[in-house]
Amino acid sequence: MSAQLIKGTEIREQILEEITAEVAQIKEKHGVVPGLVTILVGENPASISYVTLKIKTAHRVGFTEIQDTQPVDISEADLLALIDKYNKDDSINGILVQVPLPKHIDDKKVLNAIDPDKDVDGFHPVNVGRLMIGGDEVKFPPCTPAGIQEMIIRAGVETSGAEVVVVGRSNIVGKPIANMMLQKGKGANATVTIVHTRTKDLAAHCKRADILIVAAGVPDLVKPEWIKPGACVIDVGVNRVGVNEKSGKAILKGDVDFDAAKEIAGCITPVPGGVGPMTITMLMLNTLKSLKFKLGIE
Ligand code: NAP
Repeated sequence: MSAQLIKGTEIREQILEEITAEVAQIKEKHGVVPGLVTILVGENPASISYVTLKIKTAHRVGFTEIQDTQPVDISEADLLALIDKYNKDDSINGILVQVPLPKHIDDKKVLNAIDPDKDVDGFHPVNVGRLMIGGDEVKFPPCTPAGIQEMIIRAGVETSGAEVVVVGRSNIVGKPIANMMLQKGKGANATVTIVHTRTKDLAAHCKRADILIVAAGVPDLVKPEWIKPGACVIDVGVNRVGVNEKSGKAILKGDVDFDAAKEIAGCITPVPGGVGPMTITMLMLNTLKSLKFKLGIE
């Protein structure tokens, strides 16, 4: 039997509609809308297309969006001063600095200069700490892991007591999603294992998973025989495996052998159209939350 498809494209639409409605309500009651600034340094084409999508989505949900593009040779000091300006700007609730930054600028120094209460990406050490503590401490969960958890919740998958296996231990996906799934609360309370390149028997761990979250960046790493029948499989991997000759677009593949896995899993995310669309969606949600924290209504 074929697995239920968890479509990020559909969940994105639901969440963006919810955000749009809430923004309109807040505007009516409080006379303000969330403000998001995106700082882009230089003209990296991949960064430009990602930033363009962020701006489009922010406009769609009714935010004020500032696109601040800086020359590639901006000094680190000037970039830090710019961040300080937005930290102090009351109309801005979220600050994003698109990475990678040019080599003469220290990414870490810049990201750490963002006010943690405007760090809607959730990468500032203060927000990483808040996530680790869990519960009411959490302000801005990082966007891709937050999207994964939201998909699991909206697909109706039971997480309490579930065996969750996370493949990958990066700071942006593996470690935070593992941490989120083991916290007390909705969409969590799971028993979590993280596996990586030094794990002795990857297959054996994956086979135990009621929920298997794969973020390795290796096409078809997870074989169908590693999947427990009926498991929920979340494939975070986005791998360019070629180019479509007709459209000229990249051919994308996940970390899971999707065609075979969908015959075994209970539910599964496709690539593309699975986790991918959730990241910017959760960024919008974090920016809305930031304004709500400020207004004391979250
Ligand atoms: P990363 O920083 O490269 O980390 C990959 C992790 O996977 C590492 O912890 C690595 O282990 C582990 N790993 C790699 N090969 C493995 C193997 N053969 N067996 C077991 N573990 C293995 O990657 P990332 O940033 O987390 O991203 C992972 C994937 O998700 C990429 O394809 C990326 O494009 C995608 N992604 C998608 C979204 C989205 O859709 N919105 C967002 C972020 C990332 P070691 O630590 O031992 O090296």
